[in-house]
This record gives sequence, C-alpha cells and structure tokens, in this order.
Amino acid sequence: MRPPTEFISRRAHGVDASGIRKVFDLAAKMKDPINFSIGLPDFDVPEEAKDAAIEAIRSGHNRYTPTQGIAPLRERLRKDLTAEMGRDVGDVLITSGVSGALLLAILATIDPGDEAIFLDPYFVMYKHLLTLAGGKSVIVDSYPDFRFPAEKVEKAITPRTKLLILNSPSNPTGVVMTEAEVRAAVDVANRHGLLIVSDEIYEPFLYGGLRTEDSGLSKENVAPPSGSALSPQSSVLPSPARHYPNTLILRGFSKSHAMTGWRLGCVAGPEAVVQQMAKVQQYTFVCAPSPFQHAALKAMDLPMDAAVDSYRRKRDRVVEGLSRKFEIVKPEGAFYIFPKAPAGMTATEFVAKAIENNVLIIPGNVFSERDTHFRISYATTDEKIAAGCEVLCSIA
Ligand code: PMP
Repeated sequence: MRPPTEFISRRAHGVDASGIRKVFDLAAKMKDPINFSIGLPDFDVPEEAKDAAIEAIRSGHNRYTPTQGIAPLRERLRKDLTAEMGRDVGDVLITSGVSGALLLAILATIDPGDEAIFLDPYFVMYKHLLTLAGGKSVIVDSYPDFRFPAEKVEKAITPRTKLLILNSPSNPTGVVMTEAEVRAAVDVANRHGLLIVSDEIYEPFLYGGLRTEDSGLSKENVAPPSGSALSPQSSVLPSPARHYPNTLILRGFSKSHAMTGWRLGCVAGPEAVVQQMAKVQQYTFVCAPSPFQHAALKAMDLPMDAAVDSYRRKRDRVVEGLSRKFEIVKPEGAFYIFPKAPAGMTATEFVAKAIENNVLIIPGNVFSERDTHFRISYATTDEKIAAGCEVLCSIA
C-alpha cells in the first residue's frame, strides 16, 4: 500500500508552517506564561452582540444564507463604507473572516505565475495563499521604519504584477499608512494598472489621533459623528478606496468586536471582481455563518471606543516599557509592536531566551524574510504588560 504521505500535493508541501509551530512547541512547556503571542483582543464579544447571535439561532437563522450574505448586512456595509470613502464602494460580499476574503480575492484574480506585491514584514497568510494559488509573492523590504517605500514598490513591478496588497494598520508592526503614503500607493497602482487589496482588519484600532487634515479629507467626506463603517467612534483611516476604485476593501469583525471564532468579514469593491469572488465562495465556503451575520448587524451599532482607548493606553505602556532597551517604531494602530532584537543575536535566539524566562513572543521570521525583530501582541492585562516588558529588558 502507498504510504499516505505520497498523497500530499506539491501545493500543500509548498506551504511551510514550521516557524510558528516551533514557537508553539517551545511554548507548550511553559506554565502560565506572560503571553505576548496572541493576535486577538483580550476583551470578549459585547453582550448585545452575543444576545443577537443567540436570538438569531432561536429564531431560525440557521440555514444557508445567500452566497453574498444577508441583504441588510450587505446594504448597511455598502452604505457606511460609501459614506466613509466619499464614493460608492461597489459590491459587497460577506465572507468567512478576512481570511476568507483574502483567499477569494487571490483565487479570483491570480493565475499561475501572476505576481502580488506586499511589504516585508507582512501578515503571514498573504505569502501562503499566493503559493496555494500558484502565484508569486514579490516582497518589498520596508525596514527599518516600516513606511511605504513607493519607489522600491514601483521597481518591483513587472508585466506579471496584478495585485498590490496593503495592510494598514499593520500586523505585525502596528504602523498606519499616512494619507501621503496611501496616495503614493494609489499613484503607483494606477500607473501600472494594479488592483489594490487593502486589508483594513485593524481599522478600528487607531491611536494616532489622525485629524481631518492629516487624512486628506474634505470635511464633507467625513461622516462624523458616525466615523468609519465598523467603528462609529474612531478616527478615520486613510484608505486607498477613497481615491482609487480598483480597490478591494477588506474589513472584518474578528478584531473590532473580538469575534475571531465567529468567522466574519467582508469585501467591498468593483462589481466585476466581487462577483467572481462570490462565485468562488459558492463552491468553497458557500456562505458566511448565518446567525453571526445577523449578530454583526447589531454589533455595528455598538460603541467600541472604550476598548480602543484601553488599547491606546496599553500601546503607550508597552512603548514606555521597552524603549529604554529596544529599538522600536511606535505603533499607531492594531495591538502589535515589532521591536528589534538586541545586537548580537537573531530574533529566534532572543525569543528562545524570552521563553526560558516565561515570556512568549513571536520571532520576526514568521512575518518576514529577516530574523531581526520580534512581535509582541499587547492585547493583554496591564500587569502582564508591565511584567513582560521588565523581563524582556532584563534579558536584552
Ligand atoms: N489580516 C490580518 C492583517 C490579520 O492579522 C488577520 C488575523 N490575524 C486576518 C487578516 C484574518 O482575520 P480573520 O480571518 O479572523 O478575519
């Protein structure tokens, strides 16, 4: 009989999970660690959203929904995103998380050999999804400040380039693109005929206090007091979708409302692309989870500003706690910071040392072609932040 390993495709072998797996193998031996590794908020889903999900289940919303998602949620998202962007954002598809939207976007646009550009460091899924689709990741270095290097990006474009994937606020750096950087990205994309995939999953978590002038918006384009679509309270994120119709806006509920397990996200963009994504969804995910789509509609009305304020304070604490020993770029969004490992060691070596001291962090090579930095998720208690920073400084 053939050994089962022989059934595995080259496609599956092409995806490597070893980096993160090694960290979690090391972590398995830790007892009650200071856990700086988790990419999800430390608050729970708001009670009203939980009630709405339970009510949806009880009232029978347990069947398939239309592939595109339930009409009231799609309409609400289109209306709110259109108000936020100051132009009609196009068609809306409800997806199984932003992960689902990313997979569908890549499957609907990338032919074998097509290229997608994104910055290093990057959210790890981009690279692997492109590999699964037979596409090519073209990774543009953005060290040491993680700003958008428009010239380098332009140089990386070839006749096979189709996508420019942006992620602001960024995982793992917390960097938020400025309006000028967004305009530079749009300019490059427009001149070279690229589709922008704008991963805005951390959009509600903005700490920089972006003012209207900074975001380059005319007053009438902003929708105060309702603000942005999924986060009525926050400042407004500079988004390429404001200026460039060939943008897929990816937003999600996982981070904004701590619903990582509910698997809910959305994509808005040009009808011709979104409809193809819906077609692929029909034969893969079928639809996003029905009761949670109903709950998400409720969640969109809930103020989350207390959570955002609390993360802003945590960001300040972690910056203060680490800057005396580490080279850092102050994050302006999300809940990550990406400090440089101490001189003379790789990030992997430093992470091993941190784990020996009961602090769990992720080495930069999980998110990067380099092994020089490490990621901290500061979505944890203030006590753990203080204790963890203390340990990291003491071993640096
Ligand atoms: N994009 C980024 C940048 C992320 O960090 C994550 C989750 N860690 C996702 C997309 C996917 O999130 P989800 O599928 O839960 O919506």
